Amino acid sequence: MNLTVLLSTFVLAFTSYQSVFASANKFTAKSIRSGDNLISILKDHGFTTNERSQVLSSDKRLNRLFLTLDTRYLVHKDSGRTELRMFDSQTSDAFKIIKDGKSIKAFKYDPKYKISIERVQGRVYGSLMGSILGKLKSNWVAARFIDAYAFDLNQGNQVLRGAQFWFNVEKKYEESQFVKYGEVLQTFLEVNGSPIQKKFVRYKTGGVFFNEDDLLDNKPLHAPVKYIKIASRFQPKRLHPITRRKQPHLGVDFELPIGAEIYAPQKGTVLRYGKNRAAGNFIVIRHPNGMETSYNHLQTIDSRIKKGLTVQAGERIGAVGCTGYCTRAHLHFAVKKQGRMVDPLKYIKAYPSQMEDFLEKRVAQN
Ligand SMILES: [Zn+2]
Repeated sequence: MNLTVLLSTFVLAFTSYQSVFASANKFTAKSIRSGDNLISILKDHGFTTNERSQVLSSDKRLNRLFLTLDTRYLVHKDSGRTELRMFDSQTSDAFKIIKDGKSIKAFKYDPKYKISIERVQGRVYGSLMGSILGKLKSNWVAARFIDAYAFDLNQGNQVLRGAQFWFNVEKKYEESQFVKYGEVLQTFLEVNGSPIQKKFVRYKTGGVFFNEDDLLDNKPLHAPVKYIKIASRFQPKRLHPITRRKQPHLGVDFELPIGAEIYAPQKGTVLRYGKNRAAGNFIVIRHPNGMETSYNHLQTIDSRIKKGLTVQAGERIGAVGCTGYCTRAHLHFAVKKQGRMVDPLKYIKAYPSQMEDFLEKRVAQN
């Protein structure tokens, strides 16, 4: 990063800090505590059983609201009127819940967040995850930092004891109050003793962690999504935590909201598609190099998908969902090479096909 960018980052951080605390402050921010959920919070603020069910039935997305300890919610009470503002930890969903006398309203809204930037730095002792959490207690932020290196910490590369790391992360403010962390924007980590820096490059509603070297890798496939957040990796020897039975995970799970677009990662032919109990809606594509890729738990399979259809790299094939055996919306993406399931992260690039030109131009401008 050059000095001008660095300076402007801090100026931005400083000015938003000022304006954040200068404005009138009628909302109170409350931390999410262990064991809290929407029901317990509504109860704490005087919503009766009946009122709580009215809230939940106002918008079904409220039933999936995911709250974690690194986020806060807002409360404003004024002569018989209570307003709560809730922010989903993993998605951009935000809700207003208003109790005014006997009337209950709950609906999704778009906060106009003010953003400041926090810089975090440290060294790795023990696990990378634990070392980051030691500096900033947010599983979201630690997981996003690790996502930045998903393709680098995958090929026998290691983070050595004492390795340095730093990153800049967005802090989001609503009504002058910090409510949640945003994206990790720039990262630094020593891998095998060599520094690797990444930038989060936004692209339409998504974005990927990137550096120039990522353009040079000659992996055969592109990413099937435009926002890479890894919920579960390829683990051929995974043991079920309770049954202790072998329950391998033969793909990678990309966590994305319902409806996010899925793209063909390379030219290919639809081998089969359909629906079954475990996979939900699924598609399997065969590529000219003999590899097969599969996509499970889709909300929808695009209607033009037919057996034998040729798709080009970057063409949309369906949308992320939670069909089949699934608890949170994600894409289970698997790669088969010469008849064996392989780790998809070893074969896909860090970005989808349609971002390639955009990234090349960015690099050319620097
Ligand atoms: Zn999976």
